[in-house]
Amino acid sequence: MNGGNMRVVVVGAGLAGLTAAVDLVAAGAEVTVLEARDRVGGRIHGIPVSVSVVADGGAAYLGVRHTELLAQVQEYGLDLASTAMTGDSTFLVADQRKTTASRVPPLDAVALGDLFDRLEDLAASIRPDAPWQSPQAERLDRLSAARWLADEVGHQDARTFFPLFLSEMMAADPAAISVLHMAFYLRSGGGVRYLNAFEGGAQQWRIDGGAHLLCLALADRLGERVRLGRPVAAIDQDDNGVVVHCVPDAEGAPSEYRADRVVVAVPPLLAQQIEFRPALRTPRATTATGRGCAVKVHLGYPAPVWRESGLSGWSLSTDGPLLSTVDDSPPDESAGVLTGFVTGAAAATFSELSTAEQMDAALAHTRRLFPQLPPPTQCTVTDWLAEKYSRGCYAALFGPGDWLRLGPTLTEPHGRVHWAGTETSLEFFGLMEGAIRSGRRVATELIHGVEPAAVSRKVLSR
Ligand SMILES: Cc1cc2nc3c(=O)[nH]c(=O)nc-3n(C[C@H](O)[C@H](O)[C@H](O)COP(=O)(O)OP(=O)(O)OC[C@H]3O[C@@H](n4cnc5c(N)ncnc54)[C@H](O)[C@@H]3O)c2cc1C
Repeated sequence: MNGGNMRVVVVGAGLAGLTAAVDLVAAGAEVTVLEARDRVGGRIHGIPVSVSVVADGGAAYLGVRHTELLAQVQEYGLDLASTAMTGDSTFLVADQRKTTASRVPPLDAVALGDLFDRLEDLAASIRPDAPWQSPQAERLDRLSAARWLADEVGHQDARTFFPLFLSEMMAADPAAISVLHMAFYLRSGGGVRYLNAFEGGAQQWRIDGGAHLLCLALADRLGERVRLGRPVAAIDQDDNGVVVHCVPDAEGAPSEYRADRVVVAVPPLLAQQIEFRPALRTPRATTATGRGCAVKVHLGYPAPVWRESGLSGWSLSTDGPLLSTVDDSPPDESAGVLTGFVTGAAAATFSELSTAEQMDAALAHTRRLFPQLPPPTQCTVTDWLAEKYSRGCYAALFGPGDWLRLGPTLTEPHGRVHWAGTETSLEFFGLMEGAIRSGRRVATELIHGVEPAAVSRKVLSR
């Protein structure tokens, strides 16, 4: 089959769904994209921080290995902004403030190097194409990352740093993920040191003006094929085709869409909430599947004022709420933007506060980090835990037992239903690059791949 005679509904207008839709349209398919929110982009979202500057409320950073993302940036005529930093780092360790030229926290360097080596070894032992078949997969899938730390890492400084590291990398509480998921994630993203680095690493650039510009450009190419405010509640299929049911809206928009195939490009916890008839043979998420927890705080200044004091704006704190801050100012310095990250267990607590309390706590933390700075002119909080249609930011977290249960069928079609989304990508899982690769993969699968009748017979005859 090719795309020319196929009607496809894509559920979800995040980067994965939009990429799949653009590829399918290019192959001649008749495509409709159903998006629950009143905007496209999903976990990519532009947040105005001043009259002229929009910051990344969701995904922001990319590196040289993110080849599909870089190709899209080029194709849609977008620019990259370097994240290269000059100036000193700021550390708040056990309430002691320290500034230093080094980016290594003032903890025992040998202990941190040893921790990184152990994590690199663990990641290297994972099979990138089938993590559930890695040596010792069963043992690693049973064990939480918190348990691994307690059993394997003796030095107190490494134990202090580890939750901070996982918070930054994965927005994860070590108690919530399996060692297999942690090791897989690190392997899939290019290794500990690549993932952790700005210069030469996964945080080398931002998309100038915001990553949402890419989603808007993809949506623009799709035009009226993208329907906003259409949360999908159920998907029926039989040998004749598929019917996608949306939650009816007050304006009386169509609530049923017919197609030959469906691409579900939503995070696993949300896919699990859709009613599939016939039912899924294997779940998309289990009770152990968690969600990454991230809140971003954007502090706006008239200019990057910290640079005048020789500071890079980059900080790391062992105690929250702002576990790290990054200088996300526009390249022309027309404004100063400091982004504070509240992640992992700290984000779960922070999210319980009212917005006013969140801002107070973030501003108090900023005063401790940078006592020489004037107060910001704007403070914006983007709380992803409160986002009904994300459920996992940066990404879903596979808990103990999940990889062995969910991994083998992550991309296996359920009859006429196919899967995309960053959590279905074994390459760069959880990242924008993973989302795009999953969109490309699913479009190829539909255009050149599986014969629908045969697949649906297999599923429907159970
Ligand atoms: C705070 C934060 C920081 C991040 N930082 C980075 C970073 O620096 N670099 C990086 O590469 N990645 C980063 N990420 C991760 C990145 O955003 C994601 O990997 C990527 O955007 C996922 O795209 P997706 O299309 O798979 O999923 P999503 O973006 O979640 O798209 C899914 C879409 O489906 C919609 N939807 C959900 N349920 C339904 C339904 N029932 N019916 C219809 N529509 C539905 C949603 O509204 C959404 O638009 C970050 C994420 C967050 C939140």
